[in-house]
Amino acid sequence: MKILEKKIKEEGYVIEPDILKVDSFLNHQIDVSLFQEMGQAFQKHFGDKKINKILTIEASGIGLAVICAQYFNNCKVVFVKKAASKITDDHAYTTTIHSFTKNTDYTARVSADYLNEDDHVLILDDFLANGEAILGMYDLCQQAHATVEGIGVVIAKGFQSGMRRIQQETGLDVYALEVIEGFEKGKVILRK
Ligand code: 5GP
Repeated sequence: MKILEKKIKEEGYVIEPDILKVDSFLNHQIDVSLFQEMGQAFQKHFGDKKINKILTIEASGIGLAVICAQYFNNCKVVFVKKAASKITDDHAYTTTIHSFTKNTDYTARVSADYLNEDDHVLILDDFLANGEAILGMYDLCQQAHATVEGIGVVIAKGFQSGMRRIQQETGLDVYALEVIEGFEKGKVILRK
């Protein structure tokens, strides 16, 4: 996606050997018109699938999923919660996810009321690193007997293990709007 490529190159900061900060349009401030283009791109790729639900994870996934859902017919958004709560915990599916950015494990949960065997799910997230968040969401779908129709991410880091792990463990390919090959002297090298 040309506009996303430009944003990553102009506004992305490499803050650690393997972490890109893109707070100005994706993780803190939201560029709504960019998100609309992303929604159209995901629709173009997954539009022939019967998708009635987008599953994502709080917090950054929510804005993305909500805008993307508008490009799918009658599509609801469910987000996985990262914290325990008296409100969600009855009839919830849970899984353990290792957070790449915080380097800690947490219990992710989704209510059984909002994910079930009738659902045809598109899993969406902002970044793909080692695949923990996506595989956690896939596990929740498996527990709920929902059908995963596709997996999409805005930015995948191709030099980390996520894409390969997801392919191996789910048989599904990840559709990434941009793939980062690596960082060189603070610059982002994108896959052509
Ligand atoms: P994974 O679960 O694939 O190992 O890591 C993906 C999750 O970690 C995403 O949900 C995202 O929040 C965060 N993440 C991983 N790598 C990066 C990165 O380079 N930049 C940012 N902003 N978030 C990242």
